[in-house]
Amino acid sequence: MTIPPAPKPVHAPMDQFEVAQGDLVIAGQHGPVALHTLAARVGSTPFYAYSRPLLRQRVAELRAALPRAVKLHYAMKANPMPAVVQFMAGLVDGIDVASAGELKVALDAGADPAEISFAGPGKRDPELRQSVASGVLVNVESMRELPVLARASQELGLPARVAIRVNPDFELKGSGMKMGGGPKQFGLDTELVPEALAFAAREGLAFEGFHLFAGSQNLRAESICEAQQKSYELALRLAEHARTPVKFLNLGGGFGIPYFPGETRLDLAPIGANLQAIVERAAGEMPQAGIVIELGRYFVGEAGIYVTRVVDRKVSRGQVYLVCDGGLNHQLAASGNFGQVVRKNYPVGIFPLRSEARESSMVVGPLCTPLDLLADRMALPQGEIGDLVVVFQSGAYGASSSPQAFLGHPAVTEVLV
Ligand SMILES: *Cc1c(COP(=O)(O)O)cnc(C)c1O
Repeated sequence: MTIPPAPKPVHAPMDQFEVAQGDLVIAGQHGPVALHTLAARVGSTPFYAYSRPLLRQRVAELRAALPRAVKLHYAMKANPMPAVVQFMAGLVDGIDVASAGELKVALDAGADPAEISFAGPGKRDPELRQSVASGVLVNVESMRELPVLARASQELGLPARVAIRVNPDFELKGSGMKMGGGPKQFGLDTELVPEALAFAAREGLAFEGFHLFAGSQNLRAESICEAQQKSYELALRLAEHARTPVKFLNLGGGFGIPYFPGETRLDLAPIGANLQAIVERAAGEMPQAGIVIELGRYFVGEAGIYVTRVVDRKVSRGQVYLVCDGGLNHQLAASGNFGQVVRKNYPVGIFPLRSEARESSMVVGPLCTPLDLLADRMALPQGEIGDLVVVFQSGAYGASSSPQAFLGHPAVTEVLV
């Protein structure tokens, strides 16, 4: 008999959902809901479920930890489900969109256009025109966008509100994904900013400020503080080239959440203290500037679960396989194929929980590819056909970031509870 490989270590901290009588409990708007009840309500698997109380709690925690003067924006690409965007729009100060499609969802959700900003490379001319018509702030990422915005402004008789997204000359250390520093498709290189500001002044664009975004998924408070400090100082230097005062200063975000074994929660206290120091400096040095941070994953990631049902239980040469009705087609990130260098397991649970005993299990999806993996040799309770497998930390970069058409399985359902 073949001995299966040793199980992998246990997963990252996951304490935002309770387990009662062997079932997972999801905090809902009108009280707690048991997972099996929710699954019956949804009517089919797989599905994503997002918790309103957890979203609300996360925003409240941030508000408590950060200075009151700092505005919180939700970067909706993390979870663009219209109901989520609408709920978040009622909790945060603004929405960051990255396409005209997202802009529509944000406007439909009732977000105030004055507090919507649009960032992203390769904005098409019609998207820029739509932004001017909507009255939102465009974070300019290329010199090409400036004359297009100027023309739209003239044709529509409306101001083109612009901020310059700067590709800084530094990176966010310890970041899962780097989005600034060195050559990048994002933002204008620092060196180009004076020319862009001169163009904006000459062509009558409504310049409002700067946007800096150094990277994503960072769990080290010191790195985030350092990036915010450097971003502030760079903006201050660049502001000298502006003809009008800076009214908007978006210092980015990059706040990470723990996904993998050994990872711990981000410590907000030093970030709050650092932002307080920046707010105090800005009061003297850029008195009109509203300081903004933009977060996606940090708001929504831990408030969501992906739920799939075990369709088959197989033992192959001693290794247990739980084959589910969904996998990387809905939850690409948990499969390890959305930017992971070394594949690690997201936190996973199996319900109902029948005993404390654990066995090493492979949790796989229904796709004909070995990449379709939700848990690799994880020590899990014994899973049976019909059980529900829950992938935690699934509220961000889930349904909309996964190749749902791949292999032709049904699309995933999303519910906000
Ligand atoms: C993706 C993105 C975000 C959100 O990143 P998270 O890691 O989800 O917080 C914020 N700002 C910009 C410009 C982005 O591209």
